[in-house]
Amino acid sequence: MQSKSPKRPSVSLVKTICLASLFVCCIASQSRAEQLADSIRSRPELGRARQTLIAEQLRKITGWGRLDFDGDGILRPGGAAPSGGSPAARTLLASAMGGKTMLVFEDASGREDVVFCSVAEARWKTPAPDDPRVYLIRVDFADFSHLTGDKAALEAFNVGWGVLHEIEHVVNDSDDPRGKHDLGACETLMNQMRRECGLAERAEYFYSYFPGADEGEVMTKLVRLAFDKLEAGKRRRHWVVWDANLVGGVGGNVTVASSR
Ligand SMILES: [Zn+2]
Repeated sequence: MQSKSPKRPSVSLVKTICLASLFVCCIASQSRAEQLADSIRSRPELGRARQTLIAEQLRKITGWGRLDFDGDGILRPGGAAPSGGSPAARTLLASAMGGKTMLVFEDASGREDVVFCSVAEARWKTPAPDDPRVYLIRVDFADFSHLTGDKAALEAFNVGWGVLHEIEHVVNDSDDPRGKHDLGACETLMNQMRRECGLAERAEYFYSYFPGADEGEVMTKLVRLAFDKLEAGKRRRHWVVWDANLVGGVGGNVTVASSR
């Protein structure tokens, strides 16, 4: 895949961000050691509708039919036996939920420096010796709403896949590619999950322009990302398409790139 400015989002490049009042409302009575038992959560400002969207898509991917956020914004698998879905995705989420690092979803809709999703290490406002490491997973829901294209590709590129990609960066320190023609370790694992779900696989990491879309004074800069799926023994290509002027990631000051 091609990009004017290929980015390599990785944990090693993250910025440190002050968490300010992140947990004031929901877990003030918990010690930080206790918080380690609840490793994936959302900021209260994310809201129930967006929690539901994340949970719905993660349920499809993992096969955990009762996975959801609880009233405190903590993501829980729900205890039900999986039905379908990706074993690799369940392994990753279970590892994140039981790990020693805290992951926090944040609504980053409309932010110019977030293209679909990004991850950044955060710090506690008042540090303590036993503090867990904390990573903010920012989700630009508005970016995902601008997606169009083939149904098979859209099923393989949504908020659920975006947050799993970022979780994989943190849990396994997987990297994104440096070269145009590489997929990277992180998306290679995402493709294993897509195969296990019977979905199309991402064929490239960096998006490409539609022919002519990066020339002249056009009002839109349509870009596309390729996904492949075996159908009746033949590989068929499907596309996710968006206007990079709306989503971002074209030149400028984007620090973390397309879902990535
Ligand atoms: Zn990445």
